[in-house]
Amino acid sequence: MSENPLLLLFKTYEKVSNSVQTQLAQFIGLIPNVPSSHSNNNNNNGHHSSFSLLSSSSKNQLATSTVLLQDSELPNKEKSAGPVTKEELGRATWTFLHTLGAQYPDKPTRQQRKDVKELMAILSRMYPCSECADHFKEVLRANPVQAGSQAEFSQWLCHVHNIVNRSLSKPKFPCDRVDARWGKLDCEQRACDLQGTDKFWF
Ligand code: FAD
Repeated sequence: MSENPLLLLFKTYEKVSNSVQTQLAQFIGLIPNVPSSHSNNNNNNGHHSSFSLLSSSSKNQLATSTVLLQDSELPNKEKSAGPVTKEELGRATWTFLHTLGAQYPDKPTRQQRKDVKELMAILSRMYPCSECADHFKEVLRANPVQAGSQAEFSQWLCHVHNIVNRSLSKPKFPCDRVDARWGKLDCEQRACDLQGTDKFWF
């Protein structure tokens, strides 16, 4: 007797679903790659794909990771999905700020000076760690932004970073080393320079 068409449809859907899930699991490294013939054999027998051997919590983790990790992160990093720590957020933010300091023009426009002051003020209100934001507000009050030139702004950043370092009992960074530690983005033909930075075309 011929098979119920609904059952047939369900089985086909299950096969496709298993195959997609297995490919995703292999792609993000949750399960090792297996030769396709081996994989096919398992799938043909039904219900024995590598994915189906994972525990349900692993399956949930896989689903979450697949949704939350950006494509560019998947192949190189084995970072599991989840919220970042205060330390990771801090390092990323300092990287942004010191790189901005390195690229800040020697002769900034009035608008650029205004923009960095606003950026710092906004950071002290919106930084997604309230104790850090509150502390940074005090730091800004006692140390108003100095952004009259690239050297002035990068040194000011180094100084305020050192105030945060001190409050966390971290070593003081030597500010005469700030240009050696941080630099402009490595962009072709200085395409990443901020407007107003002198460009030299040879
Ligand atoms: P980080 O301090 O993140 O520094 C990253 C790298 O910058 C270092 O490895 C070093 O190479 C370089 N560096 C260090 N000091 C300087 C400097 N002075 N000038 C130039 N380069 C330097 N965390 C809290 O727990 N409490 C807070 O109140 C708090 N407030 C913060 C306020 C702001 C605005 C920011 C951006 C971060 C804050 N953090 C806070 C996070 C904290 O500053 C660190 O980022 C985090 O603890 C990780 O520290 P780290 O040792 O990896 O190096």
